[in-house]
Amino acid sequence: MGQGERRQGRGVTLHLRHEVLRLALRDPFRIARSEHGGGQMVTTVVVELEDDRFPGLVGCGEGYPDRFYGETPETMAAVFPALLAAVGAPDPSPAGLLVAGRAMGDAIRWNGGAKCALDTALHDLVGKVTRKPVHELLGLSRELPPTDFTIGLDEPAVVAERARRAGHFPALKIKCGGPADLATLRAVREVYAGPIRVDANTGWTPDVASVLLPELVALGVELIEQPFSARRLDWLADLQARSPLPIVADESCVADEDLDGLVGVVAGVNVKLAKCGGPGPAARMLARARELGFRTFLGCMEETSVVIAASAAVASLADWVDLDGNLLLAVDPFEGLELGPDHAWTLSDRPGLGVTRRGA
Ligand SMILES: [Mg+2]
Repeated sequence: MGQGERRQGRGVTLHLRHEVLRLALRDPFRIARSEHGGGQMVTTVVVELEDDRFPGLVGCGEGYPDRFYGETPETMAAVFPALLAAVGAPDPSPAGLLVAGRAMGDAIRWNGGAKCALDTALHDLVGKVTRKPVHELLGLSRELPPTDFTIGLDEPAVVAERARRAGHFPALKIKCGGPADLATLRAVREVYAGPIRVDANTGWTPDVASVLLPELVALGVELIEQPFSARRLDWLADLQARSPLPIVADESCVADEDLDGLVGVVAGVNVKLAKCGGPGPAARMLARARELGFRTFLGCMEETSVVIAASAAVASLADWVDLDGNLLLAVDPFEGLELGPDHAWTLSDRPGLGVTRRGA
């Protein structure tokens, strides 16, 4: 653990230490947006949170710095002190977590990765203080849909081989947004009979989408995620109006405040802890998305099982679950989260997130 930040308040001190991890991926992982580069390594930031009132207990958190949303490890380190100042000395209860989450939202806009790191650590710590698992703190069910498995952009034959290896998953998410999309999806369909979710990561134009749409319908694709650039809600609405498949907004749907503008535009929204700021905001955003009539997709970044466990705690609120970031890592530095035989994450009864640093 590296640098430490602390928050003094009414005789109580929160201590936050953060560490930047560079982790190797099991397979190269490329998407249509270029900042993922060669896709061999990922960078994530893990934190440890201590509170003087509860000696000996440590809350684990993690935030994924995604440059697309303006975050780097440096911006996260820069905003941690402001977030700590905003949360003060939170009451170790569900109500206290809600107040802390809202205080972070009021303190600074965006910065979902940094907020996610602190919010996740707070949920883990309060779970350990109150001896409750995080899903119970949030009042949520432990019945979860299974997760899909994601395969990055590559040659069609390579993608198909990875699809064959992942054939036991109940759904596959295939990254698209390149010239070989149709060849790739046809090659996957030859080796995999289950639902295929297509994510173009902003890589298509309306003309490309118009050509592909009937082909995707014929291939039995389940949904299309973010075909166009984030701001083109007009293009998204036009495609959804013509598409029998649900269109799901991801890059266009960062945080709760984006939901109203997407009503009547797309059928589904992709909520991620790294975008909206942690398990508390994600639970509230998923519930509100359902109230607004959206179908809900819960996604992730290439994160360790810290954020995947925090995401699993809210996954009962999702219609589609895509929580496979830790499965894409060559070695997950944390352990304790188990995938059930049905490929749904198993929510443990252990206090907090139920994950620990491997070898700790
Ligand atoms: Mg996506």
